[in-house]
Amino acid sequence: MQLGRPGIIAATAVEFGGELALFDTGAESNFENVASALRRIGFDVRDVRHVFLSHIHFDHAGAAWRFAVLGAKIYVHRRGAGHLIDPAKLVASATRIFGDNMETLWGRIAPVAEQSIRILEDMEIVRVGSSEVRALETPGHASHHHVYHWEDNVFGGDIAGVRLGKGPPIPPFVPPELHVESWHQSIARIRVLRPANLYLPHFGRVTDSIATHLDVLDERVHRWAEWFRDRLRHGDEEPQLIPAFAEYEAADLRAKGADDELVRDYECADPSYMAVAAALRYWRKYHPGEVSALGSK
Ligand SMILES: [Zn+2]
Repeated sequence: MQLGRPGIIAATAVEFGGELALFDTGAESNFENVASALRRIGFDVRDVRHVFLSHIHFDHAGAAWRFAVLGAKIYVHRRGAGHLIDPAKLVASATRIFGDNMETLWGRIAPVAEQSIRILEDMEIVRVGSSEVRALETPGHASHHHVYHWEDNVFGGDIAGVRLGKGPPIPPFVPPELHVESWHQSIARIRVLRPANLYLPHFGRVTDSIATHLDVLDERVHRWAEWFRDRLRHGDEEPQLIPAFAEYEAADLRAKGADDELVRDYECADPSYMAVAAALRYWRKYHPGEVSALGSK
């Protein structure tokens, strides 16, 4: 449940031979929902001994400190760890985006004790119960993003797309670390694992072809990035791009069968205005020549 809407933010619980792990926690405001969902399958929140974070955005890691307080080990990319230990900078930058809605959206934010954190490097393996969970560095959405691979399963984080209900997969473009080339490479890294199961934080297990899911996502990363490039070349700025992209994304979703309710769910999981700031920064930082050809204002 996020802002009263079901099916937006997921925490994925996996039992490894008696040991319980969570892949992402959801926001702190989702903690009680996760606790009651765990009770329904016969667990207590204290049974969560391992928390594997895809990245540190609040909808994925916001409740990590609650699990750390209860004794869980928190696994995270090196570049994310400092923000868990001292979330002040992250809070400041998120407050610039979300303003007064911070607490409503994400709940309480508190530091994670340093001794509860274990930094994982690319390809590093953690033994959990009877299994081995491997972290794969997968930047693009965030520079400090991991997907996790065990047996024939992948927990995909945000790099593997947002896909709600019967809608298509879309790439959550958010500032400040969007990097399109890395995104394509990260999708390729997931593809070669040929997983039988792919779990998404937004939302749940992919129930049809994972190869097709990844292809469709890959195409959208490319097409959406080019859409922004072309608009920037024509001199559009943020005020025009925000409503224009919201319309473009909604049309893209509707073309794949989404109704108004589902379009609103996508907007809740991945607000379209964030893609504008992300894409502007990406093009101007990494390819300034591509977006100034026709003379931007
Ligand atoms: Zn994210």
